[in-house]
Formats: sequence, structure tokens, C-alpha cells
Amino acid sequence: MSYRIEDSAYILPAQPAGGQTLPSRSTAEYRALDAAHHIHPFSDMGALNRAGSRVIVKAKGVYLWDSDGNKIIDGMAGLWCVNVGYGRKELAEAAYGQMMELPFYNTFFKTTHPPVIELSALLAELTPEPFNHFFYCNSGSEGNDTVLRIVHQYWVTQGKQSKKYVISRRNGYHGSTIAGGTLGGMGYMHEQMPSKVEHIVHIDQPYFFGEAEGNLTPEEFGLARAQQLEAKILELGAENVAAFIGEPFQGAGGVIFPPSTYWPEIQRICRKYDILLVADEVIGGFGRTGEWFSHQHFGFEPDLITLAKGLTSGYVPMGAVGLHDRIAKAIIEHGEFNHGLTYSGHPVAAAVAVANLKLLRDEKIVERVKTDTGPYFQKLLRETFAQHPIVGDISGVGLVAGLQLAQEPKTRKRFANGGEVGTICRDFCFNGNLIMRATGDRMLLSPPLVITKQEIDEIVSTAKKALDSTAQQVGVS
Ligand SMILES: *Cc1c(COP(=O)(O)O)cnc(C)c1O
Repeated sequence: MSYRIEDSAYILPAQPAGGQTLPSRSTAEYRALDAAHHIHPFSDMGALNRAGSRVIVKAKGVYLWDSDGNKIIDGMAGLWCVNVGYGRKELAEAAYGQMMELPFYNTFFKTTHPPVIELSALLAELTPEPFNHFFYCNSGSEGNDTVLRIVHQYWVTQGKQSKKYVISRRNGYHGSTIAGGTLGGMGYMHEQMPSKVEHIVHIDQPYFFGEAEGNLTPEEFGLARAQQLEAKILELGAENVAAFIGEPFQGAGGVIFPPSTYWPEIQRICRKYDILLVADEVIGGFGRTGEWFSHQHFGFEPDLITLAKGLTSGYVPMGAVGLHDRIAKAIIEHGEFNHGLTYSGHPVAAAVAVANLKLLRDEKIVERVKTDTGPYFQKLLRETFAQHPIVGDISGVGLVAGLQLAQEPKTRKRFANGGEVGTICRDFCFNGNLIMRATGDRMLLSPPLVITKQEIDEIVSTAKKALDSTAQQVGVS
């Protein structure tokens, strides 16, 4: 079964850049203005301005076009978010219609509006059974800030104010607000954050290829890493620990899939010590693994879920936190919750989210990832790269994957300069008009969920060429 969205479902941009409202400029002009006035996220601006950014001007389906007319296949769905692909009319029309009807109204002072009501009811339908209440924000980072606020409020309602510590993992990613950055375990971010949120501590990640020592099997290693949570709880005192947060699989950290023993053990420990379990579903949510939410793939039941990215397929910003009935009940019955954002439940974002989720549901996009395109993608990656001279491991399920670069795959020996090798490989991909991300020595793929098998073939064959060229350049073959 091969799937194709009707061409008529897309908007074909009439203008190469910016439609009717923005001036059209040459690449050189764009670069000069960008360098003069724009500071990019997570970038070395001096180096970037000397090299010049690639200017992306339009997109359709799984393809992007730059200002020089190059057609690029997007192996990253933007930034893990454009799940329904680019250029869907339904989302644009939802935004336009809602802007004309009611572009904004707040939900602070005893008011609400149809889009946020419809979205909440739809999320209750699509999320697992115990999730029936949702709090809205504008990003995944704010979602995790909100998680902290809810966790602390919940324990106050239970009369357990001493439960303050939140445990997360090294090399986890939870966003870049001060709370998100503190929760995350990215050392290079922490170095630039002299002030952090209190009561957040980290344990090690379940990264078998990179961190397992000796003869441990993946299953033994998964258990050992989960048991670090128990050790940390005992060290802090269970009466002081509020929650554990983790991405079901680590995204930005390198698409790291934990061994199968990991999450069941984490859940057991959280239940034993009465610690809330938070799944950051910002990447894993809305079909990436072939399940609606990635904790369903791993088979555990969180108390809170953080949502963003695929919630609107990135067409407009929106984040949310889903509360398990048990948590929602406590928050609802305890009086005022002193948290909110001007744009909580923004009507335009909510209308776009509704249109997006209906596409995912009604076009059976998630089911197709599970039964058709996901298995096809995973099998093709393994056939293509299992014996590759610089690929040490392939992880992933559905439409997300990480390729571990290695100098000696058989002995799990990594490159001494793995980050540079990753960058070399990424640049080969880029020059081959494939967007594939490198995190250190791991190459990542996470294409739009509407991708066809033919487009998957294109991604994998371009990636193969890039890895071959990389192997040749670093002298392994
Ligand atoms: C991207 C991401 C975030 C942060 O979301 P923003 O919208 O960038 O603030 C949080 N958690 C995970 C797992 C993410 O991948």
C-alpha cells in the first residue's frame, strides 16, 4: 500500500518567497540582512555569518526549496515537528478562518472559546484513557515549566510539601527556558546557565552503545541505568522527591532508544516511592513511533505528558501538558492554580491543532506509520547500513532513527573526533540535498509522517552516499 496525498491538498505558493506580503530578494541580500540583524538559536553567529545561512523559501510535502532553487528532501520534518508535511490547505484555512472569526481572546478570567474547547475534547479522545485534561502554552519548553508548576502544586494538595526534587537524565532535552534547560542534561547548555532552577538533579542516560561497560547485555544495562533512579531517590529521601521526567526515547540527545527493560523498571520505582512519572512526548507524541504517543510504544503509564511540536505540525507554535485524571482531580479541587500565559490555548493555534489532529486521525497517518511506512523505513535502514564500515548501531522505530557512527563497529569503538565526523557526514547530506541532523557522532532522521516509500528510498540512498563519502574521507572502508 503506497500512500499519496492528492496534489490538490497542497497550497502551491504563487511567489517564490513570502507570498504577497514580503519583498523578494536575492540570496546575497537575504544573507547580508540576516547577518546584520538576526541572531539564530543554538548557533555560533560569527562563524555562521561568515559562511552565510541557507535561505529556505518554500516547502511542499516532504520537500523544501532554498533561495537558489535547490530542492531538498527534509529528513527531519523541520525540527521533528512537521508531521503532516508541508503545505496542507486544511491547516492554513483553519488559521485564516479563525483569525477572521476570533483571532485572540484570553482564557484567564472566566472565559473560553470554541477552538480550545474542541482541541481539549479531541486530545481527550486521542490520548490514552486516563488523560482527559490539558493545560496550554506555546512551546515544549513552557510545557516543561508548566510540568514543574503542576508537580509542585500536586504535592501541596497531597500535604506533602517536602516533595520538591525532580530527577531527570544527563543528555536529556527538555527545552531552553531556564527550567527546561535545567531539566535537560546538556552540559554545554548548563555551562552558560549560572542560575538554574533549584531541586533538579540528574542521573545517567540509558545509552547502551555509548556508555555500557564490560560484558553487560542491553537488558542488564537498561536495568542498571533505571536503578540509578532508585539509588538517587534513596540518597535524597523519597519524602523529598516529587517526580522523574524523561523522553520515552531521547530525541535531541541522538535518538537514543533505551533497552526494553528500562521503562518498566523506571515505572516500578516511581510507583514504589510515590514519585510522579512525567513523559516528555514533545517529539514522541502524535505518531512518530507508529503509536499516537511514544510511551505507548514502551508500555508505561505516565502521570503527566508534555506535548508540542507535532501538536500543530509546527504550522504555528503551541504546547500543552496532559494530566492523568488523578493529578487533574487534585489540581481542580484545590482552588486557584497561579500559572498561565497570555496565549494559553490561543484560538488560532488551537484551530490549527484541531485541523492537524483530524488529518492525522482521519487519513490514518499514524496507523500507516505503524504498519506500512515505519516498518519499511526501519527495514531499509538496517539492510542498507547494518554492515556499513562506519555504522555501529541503528536505533529507532516508526519514522525516527539514529545511526551511530563508529570507527570499529564490531568492538563499539567510537571515533576520537566523533563530533567532527558527524559534521562531515551532515555536510555531505546537505550537499546531496538531504536534511539529516548530526548530534555528535549520531546521524538522525525523523521525516514527515506522510512520507511515501519512494521518498523513503530517496532519503536512504542519499544518506548512504553521504556515509560512504564520510567513510572515505576519514579513511575507513
Ligand atoms: C524540542 C523539545 C522541547 C522543547 O520544545 P520547544 O518548543 O523548542 O520549547 C522539549 N522537550 C523535547 C523532548 C523536545 O524535543
